[in-house]
Amino acid sequence: MQFHEITNKVFYISDNTNIGVIKLNDNNDVLIVDSGSDDSKGRRIVKTLKDNGFQVKYIINTHMHADHIGGNHYIQKHFPEVRIFAFRSEISMLENPIYMPYFLYSGAYPIKDLRNKFLLAKSSKVTDIIDETTINIENNLIKLIPLDGHTEFQKGISFDDVLFCGDALISEELLEKHKIPVNVNIKNAKNTLLFLSESNYSYYIPSHGKLLENISDLANANLSRIIEIENKIIDYLIKEHSTEDLITYILHSYGLEIDNATLYYLYNTTIMAFLSYLKDEKKVELFFNNNKLLWKAII
Ligand SMILES: [Zn+2]
Repeated sequence: MQFHEITNKVFYISDNTNIGVIKLNDNNDVLIVDSGSDDSKGRRIVKTLKDNGFQVKYIINTHMHADHIGGNHYIQKHFPEVRIFAFRSEISMLENPIYMPYFLYSGAYPIKDLRNKFLLAKSSKVTDIIDETTINIENNLIKLIPLDGHTEFQKGISFDDVLFCGDALISEELLEKHKIPVNVNIKNAKNTLLFLSESNYSYYIPSHGKLLENISDLANANLSRIIEIENKIIDYLIKEHSTEDLITYILHSYGLEIDNATLYYLYNTTIMAFLSYLKDEKKVELFFNNNKLLWKAII
């Protein structure tokens, strides 16, 4: 973990999941944005802050994925005075993180392969419920920017003209590696990328990527990939296919070779999101043949 200064009030810790740090007062108390994936990340965040003269007093999470909320548990356990803010819609996810692998596994009790630290965080207790688009912490106005798409209720956290943008978009390197950005709602993901592309913050920190002063190129690259996948799906569904056949086809078309259930179900969710979006757009339809659910493009 490395500590970086962005402005005199906003910093970040670079790691697999970047951690935002907002200085709130002259005592060097901070609000952190996200907390990494597990106890060990939580411990290292506390230490990195301490090494730089800061202490965590508040936590807010951009969204409920395990690699963003997993450090909450350690920090709350060892520093019970720390307050955890969450939107009303996210409380149950922070307090019952088992819902995440349940979601991926069609709402059924998830297979053991999905009950891992990448998907299942330890739970933490929300202390402060957010109902507004801003929160005032010790006379600092923190803005919460809707960035839905990657998850239904993802929020960007903005302060001092810096936007911590969660997983609304991924870096060029990750786009090259994973090919298909994880999204649960394609319409919202596209709108979020358009919003980011036209936005004008001084600095942006994607959770998985480097500090950016201009986000338009990256937002447009993420958007282009989404549109490319949409077109691939429609082309493939000129002839009817099952969801599984479609997933296999899309993964092959990007040269992806997966060998674990976590990746499979993340891609599965994203492809399901595309199908839902394309059905709403009246570009694909579903029907049944011999008890098999099939998809077909509407020409
Ligand atoms: Zn995420």
